[in-house]
Amino acid sequence: MIDGIKLLRLKEIIQSEYGIDSNINLTTMLLDEDRALLNTITDEILVNGNQCKGTDDIIEAVAHEVAHLVKPSLKDGSEKFNRLWTEIFKNMGSIYYARERRK
Ligand SMILES: [Zn+2]
Repeated sequence: MIDGIKLLRLKEIIQSEYGIDSNINLTTMLLDEDRALLNTITDEILVNGNQCKGTDDIIEAVAHEVAHLVKPSLKDGSEKFNRLWTEIFKNMGSIYYARERRK
């Protein structure tokens, strides 16, 4: 797996931090332009393995979808959305790497 990222750890983080019960799966089947997708029926987050090359890429892509789930009313590209996305990305990253260091 890319950089040996722990998708289960990310799943636990979005569950404990945002109450989101989604599976996160890395896939090669997405169109090239999409870094990640949200399956709104299953709430599954699909990460594009063709676009995301490292751990931070994946956390950032997952954070984007989490932002949509946290505030469904915010539109892609809006300032409010981008601020929320950045905030979630930083929060997830700091928890993710803190757990890395503990091992
Ligand atoms: Zn989006």
